[in-house]
Amino acid sequence: MLELRPNCECCDRDLPPGSDAARICTFEHTFCMDCAERFEGLCPDCGGGLVVRPIRPESQLHRYPASLRRVTRGRSAYRAGGVAAPPA
Ligand SMILES: [Zn+2]
Ligand SMILES: [Zn+2]
Repeated sequence: MLELRPNCECCDRDLPPGSDAARICTFEHTFCMDCAERFEGLCPDCGGGLVVRPIRPESQLHRYPASLRRVTRGRSAYRAGGVAAPPA
């Protein structure tokens, strides 16, 4: 099941499961649309493409809740331009 992370891994902005501002890569690295744009649509962690995260319907969230585990490395961990930053 897709891990719906609750925040942007870069700027820590909240990305609730119903948000259409969330972008995600194949490894479920999750960013907001503003950061994704800064990274030119490429995940800065793995280099893969970031796509719009599908919205999980409210009715499914009871059985399949979104992740509460906040993952963030902070803005300073990333450079602009979509280049992977060195591991923290
Ligand atoms: Zn962000
Ligand atoms: Zn990634």
